[in-house]
Amino acid sequence: MSSVCLLAEQSGGKLNPITLEVLSAAQTLAGAAGLPVRALVLCGADETQAADALAGYALDKVIRVAHARLAPYVAESHLAAALAALAACGSDPLVLLPHTYQTRDYAPRLAARRGQGLITDVTALRWRESRLECSRPVYGGKLAAEVYLRAGPAGFYSLQAGAFPQPPAPAARPVPIEDFAVEIPAPRVLAEAPFQEARQSVDLSQAAAIVAAGRGIKEAKNLEMIRQLAAQLGAEVAASRPLCDSGWLPMDCQIGSSGQTVAPRLYVAIGISGAIQHLVGMKGARTIVAINKDPEAPIFEVADYGLAGDLFAIVPALISALNAA
Ligand SMILES: Cc1cc2nc3c(=O)[nH]c(=O)nc-3n(C[C@H](O)[C@H](O)[C@H](O)COP(=O)(O)OP(=O)(O)OC[C@H]3O[C@@H](n4cnc5c(N)ncnc54)[C@H](O)[C@@H]3O)c2cc1C
Repeated sequence: MSSVCLLAEQSGGKLNPITLEVLSAAQTLAGAAGLPVRALVLCGADETQAADALAGYALDKVIRVAHARLAPYVAESHLAAALAALAACGSDPLVLLPHTYQTRDYAPRLAARRGQGLITDVTALRWRESRLECSRPVYGGKLAAEVYLRAGPAGFYSLQAGAFPQPPAPAARPVPIEDFAVEIPAPRVLAEAPFQEARQSVDLSQAAAIVAAGRGIKEAKNLEMIRQLAAQLGAEVAASRPLCDSGWLPMDCQIGSSGQTVAPRLYVAIGISGAIQHLVGMKGARTIVAINKDPEAPIFEVADYGLAGDLFAIVPALISALNAA
């Protein structure tokens, strides 16, 4: 194994914030093993600035692959580019990726084409002698499994958003960016605009603050006060599954094991019990505020601040306090 390689994710030249979490994990792993860290950036011809952002962090080098066929995203083109460029990361790199819709799509094929293993949705990584042990949730987040690649640590690992929150170490001096030219054949499929961006104004996985409502709000019309509170906090609105199943909010607002995984700075859970399938999607938030009339509700186990009481009294009081401020 020659290096720890970060496979960055970007869109429109802007790094996906989880890329920096993965970089931080890469720096820690590489530091402990005495290996260099390399970042691989796959981008469209007009998205090259994503690599510049990475050059400010403590890395050995940034390898940029810019090609018109890499935007919009198509799995086949990303696969071709990543396969060619990984060769530039030295023999058998240990590759870390963000666990996103995009990498869920092409990382399994990439690992298979390289004849290596892939461990997905990793929440913790540790060296145990020469073995790289990973924790990952199983059974909808009820248990954490400890797993490792039997053939050795070289291979692919996708890391869960919010699991490695510490910021990456900055570079002492600008890191070199190496442009790597690849041939990408015309893909057999053509991509349309990304599904999420087409339907929703904001990607919840990128939101800095989220106000989420649960079944405790009783009726769809009560979402109005949730929206008001969210607007005052500069937050996005999300929900537990029953609200999305009822059609009160679109399915892409659902947080949890069968919805989105988010890691905002602030997550306000209102009338949400804290079922494990919900917690698995939001427990990586930096500060969690829970409002629930049941003081025994499991949401309070992960909350930094808990307000045990009637949300129909607490939420309007919060709104007027914020208005007054
Ligand atoms: C395979 C599978 C996948 C799932 N995936 C997801 C998922 O992705 N996301 C998800 O969220 N769920 C998911 N679920 C469902 C999950 O198990 C729970 O049923 C769901 O999260 C409960 O939603 P809730 O907390 O809004 O409702 P409830 O569990 O009904 O909780 C409502 C809460 O509101 C409180 N409350 C009621 N009235 C008030 C009031 N006036 N003031 C204050 N508090 C009040 C109650 O005390 C209660 O704690 C999944 C389930 C399965 C089986």
